[in-house]
Amino acid sequence: MYLFFVIASPQLFWTCYNIKKLTVNLLDSRSVIGDLGWVAYPKNGWEEIGEVDENYAPIHTYQVCKVMEQNQNNWLQTNFILNQGAQRVFLELKFTLRDCNSLPGGLGTCKETFNVYYYETNDEERRNIRESQYTKIDTIAADESFTELDLGDRVMKLNTEVRDLCPLSKKGFYLAFQDLGACIALVSVRVFYKKCPFVVRNLALFPDTITGPDSAQLLEVSGTCVNNSVADELPRMYCSAEGEWLVPIGRCMCQAGHEEVNGSCQVCKPGFYRSALQTKSCSKCPPRSFTKVEASTSCQCEQGYYRTESDPSNMACTKAPSAPRNAISNVNETSVFLEWSAPEETGGRKDVRYNIVCSKISTDSGQYEPCGSHVRYLPQRTGLKNTSIMVMDLLAHTNYTFEVEAVNGVSELTAPLRQYVSLNVTTNQAAPSPITVVKKGKTAKNSISVSWQEPDRPNGIILEYEIKYFEKDQETSYTIIKSKETDVLVDGLKPSSAYIFQIRARTSAGYGGFSRRFEFETSPYSVAASSDQGQVPIIAVAVTVAIILIALVTGFLMSDCCHTDSCAETLLFRRRCGYSKAKQDPDEEKMHFHNGHIKFPAVRTYIDPHTYEDPNQAVHEFAKEIDVSCITIERVIGAGEFGEVCSGLLRLPGKREIPVAIKTLKAGYTEKQRRDFLGEASIMGQFDHPNIIHLKGVVTKSKPVMIITEYMENGSLDTFLKKNDGQFTVIQLVGMLRGIASGMRYLSEMGYVHRDLAARNILVNSNLVCKVSDFGLSRVLEDDPEAAYTTRGGKIPIRWTAPEAIAYRKFTSASDVWSYGIVMWEVMSYGERPYWQMSNQDVIKAVEENYRLPGPMDCPTALYHLMMDCWQKDRNSRPKFEEIVSILDKLIRNPSSLKGLVNPSNRVSNLLVEHGSPEGCVFRSVEEWLEAIKMGRYTELFMERGYTSLDVVTQMTLEDLRRVGVTLAGHQKKILNSIQEMRVQMMNATMPI
Ligand code: AMP
Repeated sequence: MYLFFVIASPQLFWTCYNIKKLTVNLLDSRSVIGDLGWVAYPKNGWEEIGEVDENYAPIHTYQVCKVMEQNQNNWLQTNFILNQGAQRVFLELKFTLRDCNSLPGGLGTCKETFNVYYYETNDEERRNIRESQYTKIDTIAADESFTELDLGDRVMKLNTEVRDLCPLSKKGFYLAFQDLGACIALVSVRVFYKKCPFVVRNLALFPDTITGPDSAQLLEVSGTCVNNSVADELPRMYCSAEGEWLVPIGRCMCQAGHEEVNGSCQVCKPGFYRSALQTKSCSKCPPRSFTKVEASTSCQCEQGYYRTESDPSNMACTKAPSAPRNAISNVNETSVFLEWSAPEETGGRKDVRYNIVCSKISTDSGQYEPCGSHVRYLPQRTGLKNTSIMVMDLLAHTNYTFEVEAVNGVSELTAPLRQYVSLNVTTNQAAPSPITVVKKGKTAKNSISVSWQEPDRPNGIILEYEIKYFEKDQETSYTIIKSKETDVLVDGLKPSSAYIFQIRARTSAGYGGFSRRFEFETSPYSVAASSDQGQVPIIAVAVTVAIILIALVTGFLMSDCCHTDSCAETLLFRRRCGYSKAKQDPDEEKMHFHNGHIKFPAVRTYIDPHTYEDPNQAVHEFAKEIDVSCITIERVIGAGEFGEVCSGLLRLPGKREIPVAIKTLKAGYTEKQRRDFLGEASIMGQFDHPNIIHLKGVVTKSKPVMIITEYMENGSLDTFLKKNDGQFTVIQLVGMLRGIASGMRYLSEMGYVHRDLAARNILVNSNLVCKVSDFGLSRVLEDDPEAAYTTRGGKIPIRWTAPEAIAYRKFTSASDVWSYGIVMWEVMSYGERPYWQMSNQDVIKAVEENYRLPGPMDCPTALYHLMMDCWQKDRNSRPKFEEIVSILDKLIRNPSSLKGLVNPSNRVSNLLVEHGSPEGCVFRSVEEWLEAIKMGRYTELFMERGYTSLDVVTQMTLEDLRRVGVTLAGHQKKILNSIQEMRVQMMNATMPI
């Protein structure tokens, strides 16, 4: 009758799995093979028709078409449909429906809809469900109904309608289709639910998840990390009602030793590693490392290479650095500046640091020992990033070894292999540090005993202490006591009075700073101590008178002594007769000061070797005999009067090898020559000062006889300065002068008069420390090529010698001060010859007439004034070496005081100046003048052109110079400047010579 063929679409039967969503069929009428088994009632209502699709596969179609009959109510009930846990299922109906208008005569009863119901139950066997028990899902109308025409054309107007059922809560349900008089063919009934399909997202597994009962509901689902992966917090996704996964949150990561490949975690192969979860894939082992196993989380370092705990695993394995290179030291008193270059091999790391290990030779054991905690390091001792350090507060005159060690992050792992460069350093002199602890002892009404502790850093052997005290608020009148002990009884004080005490220590390097002020009080008058008897005022007066008397008497003795050439012998005689020191107390010396000072003479300790009957005894008293086997001679460095001077090495038993200078006595010497030669050692051996050349010993028991002294790398000062013309800063030059003055102060305190102080007799070591050398008896001058015979027969280095010493051989420390002034001039002019080419006679005459050397080029005025002071005619007006040292110290401490230079317009080039006036000129001839300004090469040309007198020369212009043949601009300038200066001179003075 009304048969409809349906062409089924193959997609319709496809259970669709895709990543995003999945539908699961609970029923598909088309896929059922055999009888569907649905129940129709009344029996003549719905009927099943066996059909085939286009592929001849059987399909189940139910149809009903009772359009012509009244009161139709035809039911078709499906089998029980298990919902498989889904709370929301979909019903997809495919059907055709006949257009009532196309039916002839059936219009009154014909329907174009049908109803769909369901009945939810857990009972799979339930069959007889009453109509009223069903729940209506919907009334289904056709979008397109068909007509007779369509049938004729065999056009299928298939309708598809989808409805959902929710919420479902029971095991399953029955569906029922109610027809009320329509012409329907139910071609396909499909019941399905939706689920979010199993998926691996961000290395997490998300299981199949049935969507929720609500169409708007999102189900939150936690994922599970795939094998060999981890997550801090489990990743999550939301399953939508449509079966789609939405909003992934978080992710899992492959464990170390694994990498992500196509959504799974796979092991790293040998030779590869993965340490951090942050990196994505396995990496090749970094240089100098390896792994031979799978799933490595790191690579092992090759032998000899290391990695610190903090090194990243992708960093190459590294090793310790090599030693630092090119280490140098620069000693300044008790500070050492060390500098070095970075090691050649940094071990492949950027964290190279340097540590300093300081050790010194113990005075007791002669062994190296750590330097101790008092030494300061700037910026610090260890972990230095820069390649330099300042080490301070070392002991003076001490041999130190500094090891500069290079370390990096892996050095500790390579221990105990240390990589270092070592430097041996000997500190120079330095004054002791101030005393910090001063205590009051027993007090009486007239006395206080005071004790103190050695300074923290004596920097040498403490020769004595100076105790300065005064009554409180009476500072202008103070007393100074010198003591060798660390306590003193100060007497002669007023009772019940407060006194201020300050103490300082002295070593060969000079005085340290005074301690802070300590205030102590004497006892009241009534509390008389047994030792204090008598009236206080009387004692005070008596003590003062006694002190003044002692001062006057001693002062007289001294001044008398200083006028006598034999004063050294006099003192020596007293000493050898049992007088050790010329002072009132063996260990203390007292000086009173009032608005100035009265000073007791320094202690003389120099002994003239001449006074020994047996000169050999003198030499062995003051000089150590050295076995010749301890000496290695290396090369000849100079020639002395008695033989060659060589450099070499001295290794005394148990001591380190040190460089030395070796003076030899040439073969065939006379006994007198031997005595004179060794005389120098007998003198030198009595001195111990950082600015006096130090005698190591003598070799007298084998031949040649030798004198061994410390080695001074830079040789004699005059040659050294000439070689390094203009190379030093003013502070460096003043530093050298200070050293010389300090050595001379020591000699003068010892009562030794040098007589031949000149730059040629000063030696310079590698640290620019200058030391006074060339000690001899009167013969010393025999050996000095500068020494000339005076009218009185003595041989004297005229240019360096004070007029009174030239005139009547009055050699004193004051004449040494004159020579020191000349040394100052030599130093500041970089080894220029004093008085240039002037003859000795002219020099004597000029100096007698009060002319003096002019300030050297670029010489600070302060230094020139000091030189001029040293050249005072009256020797008592010259500064003492003590004062010179303190003036130089002040200049060094305040370098701005060295800024003012001798005014070039006032400076009179190579012309002498009158003492006390900057003017004056002593050149006798054009030749002498040109020589003096180092332009001697033009002398002949000047003569040829008729410029034979200085008068004519002073009229010269630049043109004249050119005509003479001076073509170099620098020389023209120099000569014209000098001519200009000469003109100024001539306006003010006539030429005296
Ligand atoms: P002298 O006989 O002392 O004048 O020495 C002659 C030369 O030898 C000096 O001018 C120096 O060049 C050299 N000389 C002497 N003593 C030393 C020393 N201790 N260190 C280095 N060179 C020295």
